[in-house]
Amino acid sequence: MTNLDIAKFGGTSVGNFEAMTSSYKVVVSNPNSRVVVISACSGVTNLLVELASGKCSNEKIDEIISKLRDIHEQIITHLENQHELRNFIEGHLKEIKDQTLVANDKGTNDQIADAIVSHGELMSSFLFVALFKHYGTDAQWFDVRTVMRTDSKFSCAKPNCDEIRVLTRDKLMPLISDKTIIITQGFIGSNTLGETTTLGRGGSDYSAALLGEALDVATISIWTDVPGVFTTDPRVVKNAKPIPELTYIEAAEMANFGAKVLHPSTMVPAVRRAIPIFVGSSKEPEKGGTWVRPSTQTAPNFRALALRKNQTLIVLSSPVMVGATGFLANVFSVFAKYNHSIDLVSTSEISIAVTIDGGTSTSGAQGLDPNMLKELEQFCHVKVEQGLPLIAIIGNNMSENNGVITKAFDCIQQFSVRMICYGASRHNLCFLLKDGDTSVALNELHKQLLED
Ligand code: ADP
Ligand code: ASP
Ligand code: MG
Repeated sequence: MTNLDIAKFGGTSVGNFEAMTSSYKVVVSNPNSRVVVISACSGVTNLLVELASGKCSNEKIDEIISKLRDIHEQIITHLENQHELRNFIEGHLKEIKDQTLVANDKGTNDQIADAIVSHGELMSSFLFVALFKHYGTDAQWFDVRTVMRTDSKFSCAKPNCDEIRVLTRDKLMPLISDKTIIITQGFIGSNTLGETTTLGRGGSDYSAALLGEALDVATISIWTDVPGVFTTDPRVVKNAKPIPELTYIEAAEMANFGAKVLHPSTMVPAVRRAIPIFVGSSKEPEKGGTWVRPSTQTAPNFRALALRKNQTLIVLSSPVMVGATGFLANVFSVFAKYNHSIDLVSTSEISIAVTIDGGTSTSGAQGLDPNMLKELEQFCHVKVEQGLPLIAIIGNNMSENNGVITKAFDCIQQFSVRMICYGASRHNLCFLLKDGDTSVALNELHKQLLED
């Protein structure tokens, strides 16, 4: 099918019977929509992550299991074959409890955590199939782990795109037909040993893009709770407006710098095959949404704002850096060794300042490895500042038109700025703030840069 669309529905779009029904209507209204990727019901992954911490008391475990039961039960009560559906969910709840007790007894790790959190998507997708049948549409459940091959870096596994393509063409493509809709899971995958992995929090968008690439789809549709990508998070800035079209680069910058509406890796497979991505609201599809494409009609200096909280700033200084070579290489190799990805960088004669993000791993593992700091301290002085907010202005050619960048500086000067970065990309200007109310800063920047 040449116009094939892959549709992904996030947690709130499958969070209850009404939301699932709206999502169902979106799927059946597009005859090209034959493969559907879904997230766990809203709130479920957070509950599973809590269980996977290995720190819940027996009472807490039972309380969470009961909440998980309630979330799925209120969908089941609207459907047929309730006995079968209930048994299915109870089977998963039992496995979740058993795995949680193992995590408590033996100590948790990312592998057990991935096994526990994967139940969220496995349960929601099963109920979504039942909902299609309830409305008289044939649907087929597909275990994405048979095709979503990843490495074994549990909690933030890397997909193996070549293998995914071969497996998808072998096992998923033959199932696609006009008669049935395939419903599968986002977020989860498996390694070569068949062990369950996850792509990191919010990873279902990425799953849809990876499957879309493997299937050579014409479009990837990300259905969520907002009608498109906005000029900034509409929950924080009430005047934020939906953006009709964005380039892949702009969307990737926004996602990288914290716009949660798209997982940062989503654009990577789409770019490789130039597949347009649509972002819209499953509750209000009539409102339209955003198209993310290779190029757009306009390239405004200021397109959007993104916010990432809780950044860590590490300032490394050494008097011997003056005129020396190799200092930066040494610093970066230590960060690489401890798997800390550096975001912003700024250098002076004797020091370098870098920021790192807490990351998006499923287990939520955060923080700096103390061994890394010790290793850095062997050749420089190390100062760490935590909990800093980072605001990114996303746009185009900000420094190439006179007076444009000044507008941003004029506006930010009322806030305490700790670090500024511009230059590596023509698409972002980043301010690391000292502290303060980020919502005030975002609203002010939005008003000055994006509201006229
Ligand atoms: P889903 O569960 O459907 O994947 P997410 O919660 O991951 O949905 O992403 C949607 C949310 O992203 C919105 O509710 C909104 O609060 C937030 N968001 C952050 N920045 C933006 C932005 N620039 N445009 C739209 N939504 C944004
Ligand atoms: N359910 C997963 C999460 O909450 C993946 C996703 O929703 O994209 O992070
Ligand atoms: Mg999401």
